[in-house]
Amino acid sequence: MKKRFYITTPIYYPSAKLHIGHAYCTVLADVFARYKRMRGFECYFLTGADEHGQKIERNASLANKTPQEFVDGIVEGFYKLWDLLEISNNDFIRTTQERHWLRVQEIFTKLLENDDIYLGKYKGWYCKDCEAFWTDTQVGENHICPDCGREVQIAEEEAYFFRTSKYVDRLLKFYEENPNFITPESRKNEMINTFIKPGLDDLCISRTSFSWGVPIRENPKHVIYVWLDALTNYITALGYNTENPELFDKFWQDEECEIIHLLGADITRFHAIYWPMFLMSLGLRIPDREFIHGLLMMKDCKMSKSKGNVVDPYPLVEKYGLDAVRYYLVREVIFGQNGSFTPEQFVERINADLANSFGNLLNRTIGMMNKYFQGQIPEYKGNVTPFDGELSSFAKAVINRYELCMDDLKITDAFIAVNELVQRANKYIDETTPWVLAKDESKKEELASVMNHLANTIYTAAILYQPVLVKAAEKALDQLNVPQELRNYENVYKFGVLGGQTVNKAEALFPRLDSAIEVEFIKNLMGGK
Ligand SMILES: [Zn+2]
Repeated sequence: MKKRFYITTPIYYPSAKLHIGHAYCTVLADVFARYKRMRGFECYFLTGADEHGQKIERNASLANKTPQEFVDGIVEGFYKLWDLLEISNNDFIRTTQERHWLRVQEIFTKLLENDDIYLGKYKGWYCKDCEAFWTDTQVGENHICPDCGREVQIAEEEAYFFRTSKYVDRLLKFYEENPNFITPESRKNEMINTFIKPGLDDLCISRTSFSWGVPIRENPKHVIYVWLDALTNYITALGYNTENPELFDKFWQDEECEIIHLLGADITRFHAIYWPMFLMSLGLRIPDREFIHGLLMMKDCKMSKSKGNVVDPYPLVEKYGLDAVRYYLVREVIFGQNGSFTPEQFVERINADLANSFGNLLNRTIGMMNKYFQGQIPEYKGNVTPFDGELSSFAKAVINRYELCMDDLKITDAFIAVNELVQRANKYIDETTPWVLAKDESKKEELASVMNHLANTIYTAAILYQPVLVKAAEKALDQLNVPQELRNYENVYKFGVLGGQTVNKAEALFPRLDSAIEVEFIKNLMGGK
C-alpha cells in the first residue's frame, strides 16, 4: 500500500452550467479523498476548469464579453457548486492561470527540443464565415457548418504535430507491464484495438485559426491546442517543474504516491494514449491508475439542456440535503457502468437506505436505550445472547470489505457493504426481540448486551459512512454521544469500544419522503417531463 495519494477529476469545460453528471465524478473523487484522509493518509485532490478554445472564444463574443470575462463568470458557478457539495479539493486549476500558461509553454519547448514535435499541415472541414475547423461528424453528410449552417470546404492550415509513432511500442509495453493502469479493462482493449492497432496518426497540438489559448513562444501566431494544454494541468497544478518542485516530487515523482485519474469514457483516448506519451517525452512518471467512470444519464439519453432533462443539483441539495444527494450519486451508479437518473429511483434510494435503514436503526436504538436504560449505553460484555457473536463478526467483515473496495475505487460496493451491516443490525433487533427481554427481569443482561451491540454497530456504520454522509454521520455519532477520542478511524476495529455514555436526544437523520409528492417535485425541476 502506498502512503500518499493524488486524485484528480477531469478539468471541466466552462461552456455551460454544470449539472448532476459533472457532480457525479467530483463527488466520487471527494469520497475517495476523504476516505484516505480519514485513514490517516495524505491525499491531494485536484479539480479545475479547461478554459481555452474556439468554442469559448465564440460563445464569449456572442455574449458580448471577452473570453476571460466569459470564463470567469462560468467558473464562479463551478466554485459555488463544489462549495455546495462540500468538495474537499486541495486545489482548483484554471488553464487561464499564469502558473499553467508558463509551464505549458515550457513543456512545448521541451517536446520541441526532444524532436517530438514538428511543423506540418492540418487538413479539415473549414467554415470561412466562422473561421472554424470542424470534424467529419460535425459537418455530417452534407458538409454543413454546425454553427452557421453554411457549406464548409476542405482547407489546410499550418500546425504543430506530436510524433505519436515514436512512443507506440513503449506505450504498449507499459500497458503490458501495468495491467491495472486502465479500469475497466475493456477500455484498454478498446484503446489497443480501435485506436492503436489500425495505426495512430500524429496528434495535432496547435491552431492558428483562433487565438484564445496559450501562445507558442517559438511561433506566437500558433496557440497550443486542447490536449497538450488540458492534460498537463495534472502536473502544472503541482508546480511542475520549477514553480514548486517539492510539491511536485511529493505527489508525482515519488513512487510512494499513488496517482489516480478519474475520467469519463469520452476522454479515455486522450488520457490513456496521449497523456502517457507526453509524460514519456518529458521523462516523467506515468500515473498508476486511470478509472473510467460511466455516465450518469437521463433514462435513455445523455443529459442535455436542449432536451430539457438536466438535473440541477442546487434545488436537490436545498430540498433533500447535501448527504442525500452525495449518497445517491455514489450508491446508485455502479462505478464503471452507465447509470440513469430518475426521480423515482432518487426518492426510493433515500427512503430505503437512509431513512428506513440507517436513520430508523439509530432512532429505534436511542428510543429503546431511553426506555430500558435511562439513556445510558450499557457496557460491552462480549457475547451474551446467541446472536451477538454473529453481529460483531459481521461488522468486522464489513470493515474489511469496505476497505478493500474503497482502496480499489469500488466506491458503490463499499457503501453497499455498509448498508448490509445496517440491515443486519435491523434483523438483529427482530432476532433478539428486546421488547420481550424487557418484560423479564432475569433477561436484563441480555437486554443490556443487545443495546450495546446495536450502539456499537451504528457507531461502526457511522464511521464508515463519514466520507459520503459528511453531515449525517457526525450527527449519528453526536446522538450516541461518542467521545472525540473514539471518532478516530483506528477505533472502528475494536468492536465494543462504546459503552457507558449517555445518549443525546434522538432526531431523524433523514425524514421519510412521500414518494408521489417528491417525484412530482423533481419532475417539475427537470422541466415538467
Ligand atoms: Zn459557419
